Order: sequence, then C-alpha cells, then structure tokens
Amino acid sequence: MVQEFDVVVVGAGVIGAATSFELARTGRSVLCVDNSGAVGSGSTSASSAIIRFHYSTWDSVLTSWESAWLWWRFSEHLGTTASAALAKFVPTGALTFDFRGTNRDVTVALMRRCGIAVEDLSANQIRERFPALDVADFGVAKRVDDAAFFDDPVGEVGGYFTPDAGFIDDPMLAAQNFMDAAMRGGAKLRLHSKVVEIRRRGDAVVGVTLESGELIDAHVVVNVAGPASARINEMAGVSGEMKINQRPLRQEVHVATPPQNFGLDGTGPLVTDMGLGTYFRPHLGGTMIVGGTEPKCDDLEWVRDPDQFSDQPTTVGFERSMLRLGRRMPNLAIPSRPKGLAGLYDVTDDWVPIYDCSSLKGYFMACGTSGNQFKNAPMSGIFMTALVEASEQGIDHDTDPVQVVGAHTGMTINLGAFSRLREPETTTGTVMG
Ligand SMILES: Cc1cc2nc3c(=O)[nH]c(=O)nc-3n(C[C@H](O)[C@H](O)[C@H](O)COP(=O)(O)OP(=O)(O)OC[C@H]3O[C@@H](n4cnc5c(N)ncnc54)[C@H](O)[C@@H]3O)c2cc1C
Repeated sequence: MVQEFDVVVVGAGVIGAATSFELARTGRSVLCVDNSGAVGSGSTSASSAIIRFHYSTWDSVLTSWESAWLWWRFSEHLGTTASAALAKFVPTGALTFDFRGTNRDVTVALMRRCGIAVEDLSANQIRERFPALDVADFGVAKRVDDAAFFDDPVGEVGGYFTPDAGFIDDPMLAAQNFMDAAMRGGAKLRLHSKVVEIRRRGDAVVGVTLESGELIDAHVVVNVAGPASARINEMAGVSGEMKINQRPLRQEVHVATPPQNFGLDGTGPLVTDMGLGTYFRPHLGGTMIVGGTEPKCDDLEWVRDPDQFSDQPTTVGFERSMLRLGRRMPNLAIPSRPKGLAGLYDVTDDWVPIYDCSSLKGYFMACGTSGNQFKNAPMSGIFMTALVEASEQGIDHDTDPVQVVGAHTGMTINLGAFSRLREPETTTGTVMG
C-alpha cells in the first residue's frame, strides 16, 4: 500500500526536525525519513552548537539573532514544559579577535543595527577580562609546519565581545526535542529509511521511493539531507539550475583542558581567532573544544562520498589545533593523545546556506549549511514553512522573494538572500560566514 502525506522531509537532523515541527504545526501531514538509526545523528551530532551572531550579511546576522530568542525560549517555542528534558543554552559570550582583512566593521555595524550588544575591547581590556588569553598579534595564520609559525608577534590585538552568545549543551538532544514536538503535532518519523528516488510527474514532485522499494506519495518534498543533500538534488533533477554549488568538507573538532584562569568566573567565552585560524569554546565537564576557521594556508579535506569518511580525529589535525590554541593560551596543558571527532560541513560557494524552492513544483531544499547553521535551526523551520506556503499561494519566490518578519525584532529577513540562484555573497569565505 502506498502511504500518502502532504509533506516528506528528507533528513532528521536538527534542521529537518525543526522543519518537520513547523510544517506539522500548520496542520499538514508530515513524514520525516532518515536513513540512519537516530534523530540528529548526522552532522548535527558533530556540531559545536555555537550560538553567535557575527556573520557578514544582514540576513544572516538577523536570522541568528531571531533564532537565539527561540533557543532562549525553547520550551515555550516547542509548546512543552520547562521541566521537559530539553537541550539547554549555556551563556558564555563571544570574543572575536580582530584580524586584518576581515569585514569586522561591517559585521559589528550589522549586529548593532539588529540591537545586538557589542563591546569593543582593546588588547588591554581583553588581557584584564580573560587572563588566560595572550593578546599577541600573530599576523596571518600559518601552517604549523612553517618555521614562521613560531615567529615573534607583530604587536597586540583587540577585538569585540558579544555578551549574549553561548552554545547548546547537547545538539543531538536539541534535534530530538524538535522531532518530539513535531510528533506531538502529528508528524511521523521513519528511521532506517533511505530515500533513493525523488518521484516527479511533469514539472511537479509526487513523492519519494525508499531503498526498500516502498513508495511514499507527497506533493511537497523538502531536502534536508545535510552533506548528502546535493545527491538528493540530483535525484530531483534540479542540480543543473543551481547557481550556488555545495560539497561536503570534513572538519575535525578537538577536546582540550583549559587553564583554570580561562575567564574570570572559570568558564571562558567562546573565541573566534581568525589570525590563528581557530575557534574554541568551553565545554561541559571542565573541558573545551577547538575547531578551525579554514585559514588560506590549510589544505581543506573535500569529500566525494558523504557516506565514506573517518569520524575520528587525526594526530596531524589534533597537533595543528593544539599548537594554534597554545599560542593564544600559553598555559594550555596539551593532552598526549588526540581527542575529539570529525564531521562533515555541506559547504556552499559563499558559506551562506540555501533555503529555497526549485523549478520542480513542490520540491524545496534546506541545505548548504556550511558548518554554521545549527544555531539557525529554529528559524530555518519557519523559513521552509513560509516558502511552502508562498508556493501554494502561487507566489514565485525566484522573482518575488519571500520575506519573513522576525518575531523578536519585527525586522524583515529576505529569503532571497538564501536563494540557490543568488550571486555569491561577500563573506569571510570560511565557516564564519
Ligand atoms: C564539526 C562541526 C561543527 C559544527 N559547529 C557548528 C557550530 O558551532 N554552530 C553552528 O551553528 N553550526 C555548526 N555546525 C553546522 C551544523 O551542525 C549543521 O549546519 C547542522 O547540524 C545541519 O543540520 P541538518 O539537519 O541540515 O543536517 P544533518 O544533521 O547532517 O542531517 C541530515 C540527515 O539526513 C539524513 N540523510 C542523508 N541522506 C539521506 C537519504 N538519502 N535518505 C534519508 N535520509 C538521509 C542523514 O542520515 C542525516 O541524519 C557544525 C558542523 C560540524 C560538522
């Protein structure tokens, strides 16, 4: 028997779960399918889950700020009780070191325009507030096997602090929370169910085929397959129309133990440090996690098949992280063995995500999340619902872009900024967006 739903969401990561939640809230019948055995077990499970606001474009900054308000009211947003087992926002604030050549002033101005608090900090102020951090200016990021890596600093560096930033303590739980809320709203979930075909009739989608051979009918299909989403777009026959490319990139995140003076209260801020090519944040259990910001000197590990990559950290990657971190944090105790994990980003040409419709009627995509969209999961579900509704009202998003008004600021997010047909945005060209 063929099952029939209004919507099939392909992928049960945090964005697929948030999309299922929002679409189920509108009264549509929703089926979310995932080929893995658990909600959030794709790139969501590897996420550093940082909630920050420093992006290069207006719509990205505003999306992250509006999303933060939904994380802060997560139980209310999901319509559950505050006592439910929910992922939690851990406030830390974010320190961003200045780095010549970045659009720092543009980003700070965008954040202030949204009403986000930003404090400019001199090198001295950073030293006083975060005594574990060396405020040396190391110039541009270098490979750790470059003799110049250990050169003397060229001066000192300031930065800016956004006190409202933080992280979500358990990204997989956050995805499960969205999915539980979606299911309370009537959505169904099928795990161990791989989509192998996007079915179309004429210029409209009519459903999907699962690996088991089962057909599921739906007049709306949303591709939220994370690093595998380019493959799903190929199945839908829409790859040729994409002006923005996407491809999987393997990235490692490592675990270290911070010195005790990392932050005046014992829990330091999350730090973006493009001059060294690194980011780090405190983690639970007195540890910290450290990732990279794709400095130009590093070789990036593009992956051909998103089902085939090692999720274990390498010694080379670990040493690179620790040596860079050690320059910023001189009292760091470096663990003797690599600790951490690796996951895949789904990277677009400009490191801005794609939230869009397509030329195939009823086929939508929330993909190309470029290692920086965990934080925007709450708004991404709202975006996808707005796109589906607009399409059903006969609005052509490609020529008349859908606008979403943020509930907190009352400001407008132009979803055309996340179009597959956009000219690449001017960004840092890194995970920072
Ligand atoms: C190492 C790392 C660190 C990160 N740190 C941050 C951060 O600090 N802050 C931030 O905002 N973002 C961060 N991100 C990015 C963020 O985690 C992702 O943008 C987000 O989790 C993507 O969610 P998703 O639901 O789109 O994809 P995923 O979580 O990847 O989910 C996609 C799902 O689709 C399923 N799927 C794939 N193909 C099929 C198929 N054919 N049929 C059925 N199901 C299929 C997969 O099994 C998977 O469960 C990080 C990412 C990584 C990898």
